Amino acid sequence: MPKALSILKEVFGYPAFRGQQAEIIAHLANGGDCLVLMPTGGGKSLCYQIPALLRDGVAVVISPLIALMQNQVAALHEIGVRAAVLNSSLSSQEAIIVEQKLLAGEYDLLYVAPERLLTTRFLHLIARIPIALFAIDEAHCVSQWGHDFRPEYIQLSVLHERFPDVPRIALTATADMDTRKEIIERLGLDEARIFVSSFDRPNIRYQIIDKTNSRAQLLTFLRTEHSGDAGIVYCLSRKKVEETAAWLTAQGLRAVAYHAGMSMQERSLNQERFLREEGIVMVATIAFGMGIDKPDVRFVAHLDLPKSIEGYYQETGRAGRDGQAANAWMVYGLGDVIQQRRMIEESEAQLKFKQVAARKLEAMLSLCETTTCRRFRILRYFGETTDDTTACGNCDVCLNPPQVWDATVEVQKALSCAYRTGQNFGAGHLIDVLRGNLTQRVKEWNHDRVSTFGIGKDLHERTWRAVFRQMVALGLLTTDNEGHGSLNLTVASRAVLKGQQTVYLRQQTKQKRFSESRQGDDFALLDSTERHLWEQLRIWRAKTAKEHGVPAYVIFHDTTLRELVRLCPQTEDELRQVTGIGVRKLDKYGNHLIEILRNC
Ligand code: ADP
Ligand code: ZN
Repeated sequence: MPKALSILKEVFGYPAFRGQQAEIIAHLANGGDCLVLMPTGGGKSLCYQIPALLRDGVAVVISPLIALMQNQVAALHEIGVRAAVLNSSLSSQEAIIVEQKLLAGEYDLLYVAPERLLTTRFLHLIARIPIALFAIDEAHCVSQWGHDFRPEYIQLSVLHERFPDVPRIALTATADMDTRKEIIERLGLDEARIFVSSFDRPNIRYQIIDKTNSRAQLLTFLRTEHSGDAGIVYCLSRKKVEETAAWLTAQGLRAVAYHAGMSMQERSLNQERFLREEGIVMVATIAFGMGIDKPDVRFVAHLDLPKSIEGYYQETGRAGRDGQAANAWMVYGLGDVIQQRRMIEESEAQLKFKQVAARKLEAMLSLCETTTCRRFRILRYFGETTDDTTACGNCDVCLNPPQVWDATVEVQKALSCAYRTGQNFGAGHLIDVLRGNLTQRVKEWNHDRVSTFGIGKDLHERTWRAVFRQMVALGLLTTDNEGHGSLNLTVASRAVLKGQQTVYLRQQTKQKRFSESRQGDDFALLDSTERHLWEQLRIWRAKTAKEHGVPAYVIFHDTTLRELVRLCPQTEDELRQVTGIGVRKLDKYGNHLIEILRNC
């Protein structure tokens, strides 16, 4: 293992292994198979890249994501590792050259798309050369139940049959047990060692707030906490994606859109901008994100409720891969609950599927309404129990604990109002009746004569909405099957109406700014010289990235630039100590950096 450590330092420029990396690398380098479950940003790539350099022959990396392969290879070239891609982005001429070099032993790593790997031609080709290992990235793509299913992945079991002596490593950031089992079964990894890392992402701050005016709330969030940062805003529908992107642009932000209804060209253009330019806000449906390994995504915002905690965690996990502070922010309201419930009810799926979907939604809702640490809830959902302490200190609940109040009487009023009006109306009308508003509709239905008219004057409309939202989330009210949004009583509501059960609800909390701009956390420490230096480094990085045709982070991560500003190294030896500067980058960029840093 001293060899692995020296590769880590010299080639990658990192001082130490993270988490289980060292163990995984040793296991694989010694020829063992393994399955690696590690959260996004945990450092999975090094787990096969270093063994690829330690073992004889070429490491074949299977990945379904063309853009990701290309960026990884570009990053490897930057640090002087011999790597190539073989996928549909190459012309046949280019592909032949790659194949020739492969046979000549000129690569340490070769990234291939699964459909290419499975061709007879390719399988014959690699039978002629020494293979260091097979790395199966995004291994959850074998799962037929997951939304990233790739049929070719199932056939990857052929690797073990044809090359029984070549070690395999399968990697995924998907945490649930079922997927794990499916990967082992389908890829024939029964003998493989399993490395499970904690799925906690301590640098991500979770915030879920009441939706009042989502656009205004989003803008406030972006302006106060993320000015100039890159991030993703998720919306449920294509229409909302387009409208939100247009609106943010009109507000002076650099926003682009992405959804499956756009042309391939438009999509890849916007994706490229997001990857290459700085500070782009990507407004997207969940069609966007898989395989985006941009390390400096500073926030992920949800304007609509995700269907499950799995989805929420996967999407928010795209923030802060570089380990620096990042925000997962969401607004959520009654409409979301009704919409998601309705989508399940109206879907054509089989009953069993609907039940699973409903259960997942329940779990998501209880995460939204929780009065205890959100991180703890999420990790427990994935079967991970943390130490005795259950407060992470980095979610909105921990930072600003919500008050709960005894809402039994109010809930009874609301239930009886729904009942007296025939269980035919949505929350808006019921609130009008409770608050005694003489609207057209109230008059039309004679609802000013029901006994619940005006009995809820004492609560503000906003509070009533929150009460209704939580009642639906708690299953005390349910939407009808006809999709009108009418609220009906449930079995659970009976006990409350009879006074047999007390109901505690969350007090509404306002959007709160927990800190200065997250980026500002670091900036606050910078004086004007340092700030100037930071800017100069960023300008130099942008120019260099452009010349090389790669995203800025491929040249250096923000983490590296921060360290440069902080440490202000003046010699090659000092530069060598900085995270992310290996031999090759020192060679290429050392002089430029020293030139810039001379003024500090
Ligand atoms: P994953 O594929 O698990 O999402 P990556 O392999 O892309 O994560 O790694 C995430 C980031 O962490 C990358 O920018 C990588 O360079 C960095 N990284 C990985 N291992 C280390 C380490 N031991 N020390 C410092 N940085 C690391
Ligand atoms: Zn917490």
